[in-house]
Amino acid sequence: MPHRHFHAAIALGLCLLLACRSREPDGIALIGATLIDGTGGPPLEESVVVIRRGHVESVGSRGDFRLPERTTEMDLTGRWIMPGLVDGHVHLVDPLAGVARWSMTRYLAWGVTTVRDVHGPLRSVLAVRRQLNRGWSPGPRVYSAGSMLDGVPPTYPDAVAARTAKEARRGVDRLVNADVDLIKVYTRVDKTLLAAVLDEARTFNLAVAGHLGLTDAVTAARLGLGSLEHLSGIPEAAAADPAALYAAHRSSFFAGWTAFERAWAGLDSMSLARVAGVLAAQNVIVVPTLVLHETLSRLDDPAVLGDTMLKTIPEEEQRRWNVPDMIARAGWTRSDLAAFRRARTAQNLFLRVFNAKDGRVAVGTDAANQMLIPGHAVHREMELLVAAGLTPGEAITAATRNGALLLRVDSLGLIAPGKVADLVVLERDPLADIRNTTSIHRVVLGGRMLSPDSIRSRW
Ligand SMILES: [Zn+2]
Repeated sequence: MPHRHFHAAIALGLCLLLACRSREPDGIALIGATLIDGTGGPPLEESVVVIRRGHVESVGSRGDFRLPERTTEMDLTGRWIMPGLVDGHVHLVDPLAGVARWSMTRYLAWGVTTVRDVHGPLRSVLAVRRQLNRGWSPGPRVYSAGSMLDGVPPTYPDAVAARTAKEARRGVDRLVNADVDLIKVYTRVDKTLLAAVLDEARTFNLAVAGHLGLTDAVTAARLGLGSLEHLSGIPEAAAADPAALYAAHRSSFFAGWTAFERAWAGLDSMSLARVAGVLAAQNVIVVPTLVLHETLSRLDDPAVLGDTMLKTIPEEEQRRWNVPDMIARAGWTRSDLAAFRRARTAQNLFLRVFNAKDGRVAVGTDAANQMLIPGHAVHREMELLVAAGLTPGEAITAATRNGALLLRVDSLGLIAPGKVADLVVLERDPLADIRNTTSIHRVVLGGRMLSPDSIRSRW
């Protein structure tokens, strides 16, 4: 049969061309783990996840699984799989200390496969993004706002500053031309500037993240804010008279932050619920960074300073994380820190109500700022979200799927066919105890299997 000969000839030709390498395995089947896929649905026991060429090829049950060709098996019986974690609020470059190179492998070792950088010096932060996303050095996948957009005078000298609505639009255009992934606005952006930023960003289909100061959260939500950082603007929206808060934001960054934290304990729960309702209805993703609020509220607590986890970061960084110096710069008194602790109760109440109204919460940490350990802080944030009233499953969704929604990418945050193969294999059940998310056995980044132990050995 000439037909068959023809096919055989083609097969032989291809085989010679490819040196018969095509039979080598290019896929791996993870077999037997309990799968938490990121959707928030019930976990799938005895699962099989097939990964090939950086993506999830199929997801199924062990019972009716047949190993595809060119696929090796990895037995994960008795373990758990969840999507790679997303830290939705990080700073990879410190304005003074420069690129936090040491932080990159920490993120990976702790299962954080994607980060959203929300401010740095424009050129260096985008250079870091390129370096990591092209795989030139190990680290998480990076989405970046480049530099934040602020009013005048800007809080940080490397921010893009705008005095008028026209300048705000021009600032957005400049960031778009630099190829940022989102726009981040800061505390000195008032309602006029914010409206211009949101309108201009909409033209380019870019989300806007807000650490608000001179605009309240309800106003920002109605104007189309994408994500709310640090629960900012909520006391300003819920307070009977926010004038003193705005005066504080105008006087200095730290005065604004202190007044904002101090305001929480006095807020009326009905007003908080009203704000939560508006934010949920407007689909604002809330990135509460509870780990930041919690850490700042306990800066005078010896347990925070004596945290053994701090020993896992480079000594020079430990020295830079100078807490007494930070307290002095911020001008915080014992009474301020006590008020910050009282704020935590109201912040948790807000999150519970927001979550009950189907509002979306995403995990963010503000690492690698003082005392916020890159990667590890994501696990602390999930623990604090559970303490605030979310279920462990909801906390995991906040760190996975909702992180992807924050970035507006549909290839991340879920374990399903076609998605990027970013996942974390755990030794213990995170749904039974959220702290078990730290029991990391393996991390898979874009289909590449990483061992946290071997990453740590190279620190
Ligand atoms: Zn930040």
